Amino acid sequence: MSSISRRSFIGLSVAALPAWGQGKSANSYLKPGDAGYEAARRPFNSTVLLKPALIACCRTEADVCAAVKHAKDAGLPVAVKSGGHAFHGSSLNEGGLLVELSGMANRLLEKDTKRFTAGPGLKLKDCYSWLLERGRLLPAGSCGGVGLAGLTLGGGYGLFSREFGLTCDHLTQVRLVDGNGEIRDSRDEPELLWACRGGGNGNFGIATSFTFETQIAPKTLASRKFTAKGLDTPGLARRLERWFEIATSLPEPCFSAVILNGSQATVLLSSTKSAEGPAFVNATKALLQSGFGSKGPVTKPLGIAIGRYEGRPGPLPFDNVSAGFYRGFEDLRSAAGGICATVRETPGLIFQVNTLGGAITRGPDSAYAHRELPFLGELQAYWEKGTIPTKLAAGHASVRQALHDAGIRRHYGNYPDPRITDWATAYYGATYAKLQEIKEKLDPEDRIRHPQSVRLPNA
Ligand SMILES: Cc1cc2nc3c(=O)[nH]c(=O)nc-3n(C[C@H](O)[C@H](O)[C@H](O)COP(=O)(O)OP(=O)(O)OC[C@H]3O[C@@H](n4cnc5c(N)ncnc54)[C@H](O)[C@@H]3O)c2cc1C
Repeated sequence: MSSISRRSFIGLSVAALPAWGQGKSANSYLKPGDAGYEAARRPFNSTVLLKPALIACCRTEADVCAAVKHAKDAGLPVAVKSGGHAFHGSSLNEGGLLVELSGMANRLLEKDTKRFTAGPGLKLKDCYSWLLERGRLLPAGSCGGVGLAGLTLGGGYGLFSREFGLTCDHLTQVRLVDGNGEIRDSRDEPELLWACRGGGNGNFGIATSFTFETQIAPKTLASRKFTAKGLDTPGLARRLERWFEIATSLPEPCFSAVILNGSQATVLLSSTKSAEGPAFVNATKALLQSGFGSKGPVTKPLGIAIGRYEGRPGPLPFDNVSAGFYRGFEDLRSAAGGICATVRETPGLIFQVNTLGGAITRGPDSAYAHRELPFLGELQAYWEKGTIPTKLAAGHASVRQALHDAGIRRHYGNYPDPRITDWATAYYGATYAKLQEIKEKLDPEDRIRHPQSVRLPNA
């Protein structure tokens, strides 16, 4: 009996550890037109129409190994889908094999260490609620339908990351199926843990099991929404600059975001501490003095508060991309006026900046390459149905160009933009070369791939 299997766990029998479902594979492969094919293919972004030739709906690690070997025999590329929330279809391919993992949503909590082990199919909503029932928290993102797998493998930030760190910073062990269909474990190859903390999205292996440290769950979340309406372009730009100044001095239990949409600026402020505490009160005063209005703070038990940020159910048509990491407003100063003018004139276009920093800056050495940058921008475009309206596409392009002209070059890999050509440096910076070495070791035939996956060193 291994030391791991002697420990006691909540959630599943000890015998099931550490690898779920070793043994024979029961895979069957869905083809276009088969019952269940479209449900297994369907991504959150409804504009993504890619159609794999075969879908393996895997239930066990053995199924994943068999699916990759099947793809190898058939000479097919492999795409990996867990929660299906990739912005632009990197979890699908055209005419290849899709390893679909939503059926692997197992969860375990180790009684003594409070380490949490999850399958790749687990969604954030279920992750939060299951752990909160047990008094624990894994800091993650906000949208309930996002897969824990894709989120972790690209970083994973949200309301709690300034206080506790990124989701990937909590990762202590990962199991992968490599491009030859063989099992790899970060306990034997520690560089896999390094790589999967921010550099593992469909790059060199299929993660089948994640083990995380968890935090004691805070009891409540205090939040407050501030809005400033009917602003002209200079008014929007002033609110954006002022938000940066206020957000820079927030303590670590606080998260904030500024959202520019049409002529309105909205600020969200949240804290795991009291809304009556000095930091929250000071930030509130500063925002009210800067021309924002607010109805007042709301404090809710954590589970209920998280539910308020779950987001809309999909699939939806959208075109969202990273708008870059920033040190502060100075990085955006030359672009801010143009961005505000474009957002103001473009219905459906949203420019948002979120706070990072805090515990993220102290996280482990890992493939996540942008720890020192305390702000992250996101450009979002939403419309009702069909393809993106021309005006919205033009506004989107104009903001991307303004950011590029301002020298914004570092981007969040979990908010990918299929149009950027320097994506390797943008997402991975100096960590890219090491990721390429890992790619060569785990997936020398480039079996597991998507348009912006890590390339083999000689490619
Ligand atoms: C509505 C919405 C809200 C979001 N909110 C946040 C947020 O608050 N914080 C944040 O950090 N991010 C957020 N994101 C971005 C999110 O982290 C990424 O889209 C993430 O990659 C989605 O993971 P997934 O498993 O749902 O996606 P999938 O579409 O299944 O996969 C996404 C990528 O990960 C790879 N991948 C998936 N599973 C595996 C696996 N098991 N092994 C190897 N590679 C795998 C795929 O190849 C693909 O490249 C949000 C996205 C959306 C659409």
